[in-house]
Amino acid sequence: MTRIYLSPPHMGDDERKLLLEAFDSNWIAPLGPHVDAFEREMAAKVGVAHAAALSSGTAAIHLALRILGVGPGDEVIASSLTFSATVNPIVYQGATPVLIDAERATWNMDPVLLEEELDACARRGKLPKAVIAVDLYGQCADYERIAAACARYEVPLVEDSAEALGSSYRGRMAGSFGALSILSFNGNKIITTSGGGMLLSDRKEWIDRARFLATQARDAAPHYQHSQLGFNYRMSNLLAAVGRGQLRVLDQRVARRRELNAAYRRALGDLPGIGFMPEAPEGRPNCWLTCVTIDPGAFGATCEDVRRKLEAEDIEARPVWKPMHLQPFYSACRTRGGSVAAELFERGLCLPSGSSLGDADLNRIVNVVRSVRN
Ligand SMILES: *Cc1c(COP(=O)(O)O)cnc(C)c1O
Repeated sequence: MTRIYLSPPHMGDDERKLLLEAFDSNWIAPLGPHVDAFEREMAAKVGVAHAAALSSGTAAIHLALRILGVGPGDEVIASSLTFSATVNPIVYQGATPVLIDAERATWNMDPVLLEEELDACARRGKLPKAVIAVDLYGQCADYERIAAACARYEVPLVEDSAEALGSSYRGRMAGSFGALSILSFNGNKIITTSGGGMLLSDRKEWIDRARFLATQARDAAPHYQHSQLGFNYRMSNLLAAVGRGQLRVLDQRVARRRELNAAYRRALGDLPGIGFMPEAPEGRPNCWLTCVTIDPGAFGATCEDVRRKLEAEDIEARPVWKPMHLQPFYSACRTRGGSVAAELFERGLCLPSGSSLGDADLNRIVNVVRSVRN
């Protein structure tokens, strides 16, 4: 029996062909026709006017904050329950993260706590430079309320949609809710270029600026001249070719992950103490990862017991993200609430959810989880 991974890459039929075509054309890197085409095709898929293909999702968040003018002494509000890549770029810019707890309905930034925090900031006379909302495990945050709160205080919204490509909320695609939004094509995401990311916006001047900053901020001169600090953050043409192939199978990848989520619910939903990440009625998540919560009293074993048993059977499962306010590096950050995210970390487990996972593998996983209880 082979090892089952949490979310391994899953290539389609076209990626190899497109990659070799890029290779044979000698457009290796940086940039080239596949980068331009990948940006156009992704912008069209997400329903945003402009996109810049970058070396990672983290780079995309970093450039978003630079474009919004985040700098030393500024504050940026972010969800606490997320991967560290959401908040690290705040610190790259010398600014300070302010963390907001999750709501139970979506596991995303609690809109009520965001409103309270923005109100407190306004009364203190110092609004944050940006709000970064995350679409956790592929489910969109409650943008109706979050966007309204940001608009009321005129604070720009950045959407970290690294995990949510292919999801939608009230009929609009994930990645279209921020003034700037980001995607990731890291190896574990729903589609991958091995590593890569994208920054999206309806404002052309912002995306032009992202491309400029991402290619070392070179001024228009025959020699190498720089009036601003630049970065080496562009995506290579070879990887964009892979990304174009992956984008063609995105809908199939979403369909399979949603199918696996439904299958897990059917196979484990009857067990006492087992819950699932809720699916809010306004959205259609891509089900990037299926997450369960385990109440040890009712289930008779903890999350960590289940994870260890799976690992012993060569099956990779992972605890839900450890919230940023509980991370040693971020524990001093001002945090509004925090107990919901802490409980989800304590009780949450991500099960293998790759779109290449077969029904036999799914049964293998389900049997191990059920056996922990017996
Ligand atoms: C993966 C991820 C990122 C970072 O993307 P990279 O391409 O790995 O840099 C950012 N935010 C979240 C929520 C992620 O899951």
